This record gives sequence, C-alpha cells and structure tokens, in this order.
Amino acid sequence: MVAPLARPYAWTVDGRQTIEPREVVIEKIVRETADAVTLVFRGGGAPPFYRAGQFLTIDPRQFPQLEGMLRYFEGTKGRREPPRAYSMSSAPHEARLAVTVKVEPFDPGRAPFPPILSPLLVHGLFPGQRLEVVGFTGPYTLPDDVESRTDHVVHVCAGSGIVPNFSILKDALHRGLNLRHTLLYGNKTYDDIIFRAELERLERAHPGRLRVIHSLSREDRAERHGPAYRQGRIGRHLLEAVLEDRRRALVFACGPGITPYERRAARAKGLEPAPRFLETVLGHLQELKVEKNRIHNESYG
Ligand SMILES: Cc1cc2nc3c(=O)[nH]c(=O)nc-3n(C[C@H](O)[C@H](O)[C@H](O)COP(=O)(O)OP(=O)(O)OC[C@H]3O[C@@H](n4cnc5c(N)ncnc54)[C@H](O)[C@@H]3O)c2cc1C
Repeated sequence: MVAPLARPYAWTVDGRQTIEPREVVIEKIVRETADAVTLVFRGGGAPPFYRAGQFLTIDPRQFPQLEGMLRYFEGTKGRREPPRAYSMSSAPHEARLAVTVKVEPFDPGRAPFPPILSPLLVHGLFPGQRLEVVGFTGPYTLPDDVESRTDHVVHVCAGSGIVPNFSILKDALHRGLNLRHTLLYGNKTYDDIIFRAELERLERAHPGRLRVIHSLSREDRAERHGPAYRQGRIGRHLLEAVLEDRRRALVFACGPGITPYERRAARAKGLEPAPRFLETVLGHLQELKVEKNRIHNESYG
C-alpha cells in the first residue's frame, strides 16, 4: 500500500500548481552503469508538467521492504526519515517521465549509516511495480530570458549530478534555443559515465551547439577513449579554459556537496567541513571572478 504523503511545498510553474503525489508504474528500468539506473514511468494521471532541471521526491516509507530498516534508523538517528529528491532525467517534451538514480556509496570511515533508499531504487525494483512520487519542484532551471542573458551555458557536473543537466541540455536543444553548451562531466572511470552514448548522440545531432569534455579521476590513460576525455578532476585550469567568456557565460553546476551531517560533525570539532565537488567548483568560479548571479548550483549533499 502506498502511504499518504504530506505535501511538502508549493511551487508553481506558469501559475499552475504542480506539486502533487501521483502514482506511477515502472515501465522500464534502463541500466546506465553498474550502480545507476533510469526508472521510466508511465501513468500518474494528468501529463507531467515540469521544467527541465526540476526534481520529484520519493518517500522511502512506501516500500514494505524498508520498514524494519526505517524503524531502526529512525530510532537510532532520533528523527523521521524524509522523502529523497530525484531530478528528472527526462525532458518536458518527452512522452515518459524518468528519473536516474545512482547508489550512494557507503564508506564507514566517513559516514555513520549506510544509505537507505538509493540501493533499493537501483537494485530492488522491477517493471510493473507501482510507486508514489511527489513533484515537481526546484529552482535549478534555465531562466525564461536565458537567450538575452547569454549564448553560452557551461554545465559542470559530477556523478549523478549529470541528471538535471542532461534534462536541461535535451530541453534546450529540442527547443532550438540560441545557446551553445559546454558540458564538463567528472567521473572516476569511463564505466561510471552516465548517459555516455546519449551525450555522444546529442553532440552529433547538434554540431556546434554541444561540446562534452569528460574528466576521469581514476583512469591511467583517459585520453585513449578519445579526444573528449582527459585525466584528473575538474579543476581551475579546465574551468578557465572553457569560460573564455566568463563575464557572459551562465554556469550550471551540480554534484556532491557537503552534507548537513558532515557540516555538523566538523563544527562539533571546531573545524570547517572539507569541501566536496560542488564547493571546490564554486571556489574556482569565485577565483575566476564569475559573478554569483551567473552561477546556478544544486548540491546532492
Ligand atoms: C535536489 C536534489 C536532487 C537530487 N537528484 C538526484 C538524482 O537525480 N539522482 C541521484 O542518484 N541522487 C539525487 N539526489 C540525492 C538523493 O536525494 C539521495 O540523497 C541519495 O539517493 C541518497 O539517499 P539514500 O536514502 O540512499 O541515502 P541516505 O540514507 O539519505 O544517506 C545518505 C548519506 O547520509 C548519511 N546519513 C544519513 N543520515 C545521517 C545522520 N543522521 N547522521 C549522519 N549521516 C547520515 C549516510 O551515512 C549516507 O552517507 C538529489 C538530491 C537533491 C537534494
């Protein structure tokens, strides 16, 4: 049985109320990488109405197989487990609503609890299964007047942080917006790249509109995969190279950021939490003097 959900927030798109629970059926599960899948949904009443870059939420308490785990964790953590957010990997013009989920890794040296929902979404669901999602919301979207603000959007993503940017890219290219896109996408290895083939296809279909640069931090010879691949993390030099028009470009950065738990744990020791991908990128952008109002970011921390 699907548990009733509280309506967490109200957000309107073009004056329409879009936050509502909807029951969807998993039509297809696409394995993107060893630890990431795309869940393609059908159903859910009225056609989904969202903006590229927005997210929906999934409440873990609707899954009976998580019941014991949730009770245990809620007792231990002393708080109710909230719904988790997932960006749409589909774009508004596409017939099906889809999200893409990557398993949150568990590193006992860094985190006190294993992740709850993402392992189930990636490894434990099946086509035909019903679930409740609540959507849609989120400010990580292209501004309506984007074409008057820039002609170059620089996307800076790591891991599952590609998901909203993939939707934004598909949407902007489909709508024929007068924009050029550069995507810097960081992963550990070639096999961790989500949407690799689709990104190549988009690049071929829109010559001069999209350039993808993959940064691989744990590959010895990343260049052997082709000219779009480079070794290492996304650093200041790479950002500087693609932001030749940094006074005019708009940046959309998404990926792992400092979690509230890390922040609290560090502060309890009188320390500042160590920056993760997002804080590092934002730091470089600040050094490069990209104005704050030209940077949109979404933290998956
Ligand atoms: C706007 C937004 C959009 C997102 N979109 C996507 C997406 O498209 N795809 C995607 O894969 N993910 C996305 N995420 C991340 C997603 O919402 C989940 O955070 C992720 O799937 C992990 O959830 P989980 O239940 O598996 O792990 P959780 O159970 O939430 O655990 C996550 C981490 O937090 C630690 N932790 C949990 N509770 C505590 C505590 N009380 N004290 C200390 N540490 C704790 C755990 O040890 C673990 O390391 C998005 C997040 C946001 C905010």
